[in-house]
Amino acid sequence: MPGESAFVGIGSNLDDPRGQVLRGLRALETLPRSTLLRRSPLYRSAPVDADGPDFVNAVALLRTGLTALELLAALQAIEQRHGRVRSGHHAPRTLDLDLLLYGTQSIDGPALRVPHPRLQQRAFVLRPLLDIDPTLTAPGLGSLAGWLDATREQRLQRIEDS
Ligand code: AMP
Repeated sequence: MPGESAFVGIGSNLDDPRGQVLRGLRALETLPRSTLLRRSPLYRSAPVDADGPDFVNAVALLRTGLTALELLAALQAIEQRHGRVRSGHHAPRTLDLDLLLYGTQSIDGPALRVPHPRLQQRAFVLRPLLDIDPTLTAPGLGSLAGWLDATREQRLQRIEDS
């Protein structure tokens, strides 16, 4: 299949977070020139650098013909449609979509940084990424499995879809 592999992180801690994440996953299935190949289980996590209730998180793997910036814009359009309120950088959010990895590219631009900053420090990103691909590597970080142990104190619980 042509295109790039892209991993997208999904998180919500407001207004039925599990439902928001499942709706976010359905929205990813409708992205143009893209196919949702796999998705992780859902997890419940304590907020890291954020306020408010627990988050529900998941990760999706896409194959996409969109450029990284086109994909970022499409993710932001989904966030808007789902009523995300940008009241502050670390504020609670209804739906947060992050571009975690885009092929093997390193991107360090004003609007987009890939791999997503601090990805390797966050259990709620690492665990679902490794569920999808236990051998996953990232530019500048090497094998992601090697970072998991350092996040073991972070509260993370696998939950059912419903
Ligand atoms: P946040 O509110 O934490 O989701 O941050 C959103 C901002 O981060 C937007 O202005 C994006 O342009 C920027 N950004 C930089 N890199 C990424 C990325 N890999 N995925 C999503 N947003 C990103």
